[in-house]
Amino acid sequence: MKLEFTEEEQAFAEEIRAFVTENLPADIAAKVSRNEVLTRDDHMRWQQILGARGWHTYGWPVEHGGPGWSLTKRYLFETICGEMDCPLIQPFGPRMAGPVIYTFGTEEQKARYLPGIRNSTDWWCQGYSEPQSGSDLASLSTRAVDAGDHYLVTGQKIWTSYAHYANLMFCLVRTSKEDRPQKGITFLLIEMDSPGIRIDPIIGMDGRHSFNSVFFDDVKVPKANRIGEEGQGWTYAKFLLEHERVDNAALGVTKRALQKLREMASAEIDGQPPLIDDPLFHARLVKIEAQFASMEMMALRLLANAEAGASPGAASSLLKIRGTEIAQKITELALDAAGQHASALPGQIEDALRNSEPDQSPRAMTTYLWKRAMSIYGGSNEIQRNIVAKRILGM
Ligand SMILES: Cc1cc2nc3c(=O)[nH]c(=O)nc-3n(C[C@H](O)[C@H](O)[C@H](O)COP(=O)(O)OP(=O)(O)OC[C@H]3O[C@@H](n4cnc5c(N)ncnc54)[C@H](O)[C@@H]3O)c2cc1C
Repeated sequence: MKLEFTEEEQAFAEEIRAFVTENLPADIAAKVSRNEVLTRDDHMRWQQILGARGWHTYGWPVEHGGPGWSLTKRYLFETICGEMDCPLIQPFGPRMAGPVIYTFGTEEQKARYLPGIRNSTDWWCQGYSEPQSGSDLASLSTRAVDAGDHYLVTGQKIWTSYAHYANLMFCLVRTSKEDRPQKGITFLLIEMDSPGIRIDPIIGMDGRHSFNSVFFDDVKVPKANRIGEEGQGWTYAKFLLEHERVDNAALGVTKRALQKLREMASAEIDGQPPLIDDPLFHARLVKIEAQFASMEMMALRLLANAEAGASPGAASSLLKIRGTEIAQKITELALDAAGQHASALPGQIEDALRNSEPDQSPRAMTTYLWKRAMSIYGGSNEIQRNIVAKRILGM
């Protein structure tokens, strides 16, 4: 098992660091560092810079216009970008829609959609969840009725991240109610400006607008926009979920959050001694740093196994559970470290920033609230525990 990077990999890591230092716009890095909410333009600017270098689709093989990097290079790219305050690359195009289209799509679909993902000129959203279908996704009921050369889609999706930014959606619909629920699902690509689509915002408890409800009322979707066979959508949907591999970007972001927590706890706030001088707080901080170090080691071990051809399997569930627990714990400690400034609620942040150092303290509460979502999306932590129980513990 290999746990250190080769000279070539270390040189590659330096290349990434140099590229980010030269190309990441300072205003965007500052926003990420302060945990500010990014605009669509902030995301697109950075993703298009990566796209021009061929790195927006850094996980893609060369034949589809990606760089063809090894798993280790992808890991290095993801963690370094996280550590250097790069915005997270939105996964919906490059990590979700793209691999489904180049694996199962027609030549016309590849020609139409892949360039917009590579260059980040399109923004995709994911139409999976419905009000009654989240963890139990196969029960979804948005229906697509056959109308000759097109379908008529009617129903509702929910929690659709950034649907209000998106011009395209990949969407699961029901084309048949016969047989097992998984069998009647079809995978469609939908233009978001199609007549009959309505997007309603859902404001999160942190005050930000990232979620939406998307309503479909007899929306005409050409059959040419169907991926693969009618009724086989579950196969493509599962492929997509399995390819949402271990989220290494979160490791880099968490490492940076730990550094920021240490800095915040080491500073005097309102003339009071730094919280890090308190042995109880210090012990909590060191414990979480140790937990992070052991999780990083586990990620590297999985990576080494994967490079040797093993599938990460259920171990990636362990990483997801541990990673989200640690990231959430950091935001709890940050609330303590921020002192009274942590009481700034959504809507009061700008005032709080005017009255304190322009650091991340006034955003500690909104960051804490936002990070609660980590244990829900990408398969909730309870669902991950079920996987561990079944596949690792044999229960
Ligand atoms: C930040 C964020 C972004 C999201 N973006 C998108 C998006 O862009 N597109 C999209 O389609 N969806 C999106 N989602 C939705 C997400 O996929 C669902 O929230 C998730 O699948 C859980 O479904 P649910 O909310 O319906 O909860 P439910 O499935 O109803 O679960 C409720 C609770 O019960 C638990 N539970 C459910 N089943 C079991 C079980 N079998 N065993 C043990 N416990 C169980 C869950 O863990 C949870 O705690 C997003 C969610 C979040 C938080």
